Amino acid sequence: MKIVLVNMTKQGLLKGNLYSELARIYELLEKELMLLNPGCNRCGACCNFSAFDHVLYASTIEVDFITQNVEVPDFNISDNICPFLKDNQCSIRDFRTLGCRVYHCNPHYREVLCDVYEKHYQMIRELGGKYNTQWKYLPFLDQLAEFKSDPSAFCQP
Ligand code: SF4
Ligand code: SF4
Repeated sequence: MKIVLVNMTKQGLLKGNLYSELARIYELLEKELMLLNPGCNRCGACCNFSAFDHVLYASTIEVDFITQNVEVPDFNISDNICPFLKDNQCSIRDFRTLGCRVYHCNPHYREVLCDVYEKHYQMIRELGGKYNTQWKYLPFLDQLAEFKSDPSAFCQP
């Protein structure tokens, strides 16, 4: 019993460190985006994936970060709308994924934002390697649905 508690504490510490580092990557990203200033009126249209013809991908680390910090509402995956969109606003801005943060519909910024995305994606990828987490990079809604069906199997590291 004692060993289990020690292991749980160690795992908790690892998770804490992993998420601190992920939050730091998001912080650096936000600074970079602020300088670029691609503009967004937060209309929420791009979070309705069907209507916007958009697929949001994310890594398991990012999805896990969300599921550990906020409650994931019940949702119907066939609606193809992010369940965190409330009244056309993101209800989990502090925890949203890299793709949520980088995507801007302004076509003039498409190329530069691709580079910004790639750079921060690699940083998150390296984080996965450092903490030896399982790594998947899949549509966000698929991963949320997987979490809803079995939360215990989804947790990492
Ligand atoms: S997490 Fe927020 S920003 Fe990302 S798709 Fe959902 S509502 Fe939109
Ligand atoms: S990126 Fe564009 S579509 Fe998405 S919330 Fe901002 S303005 Fe709306």
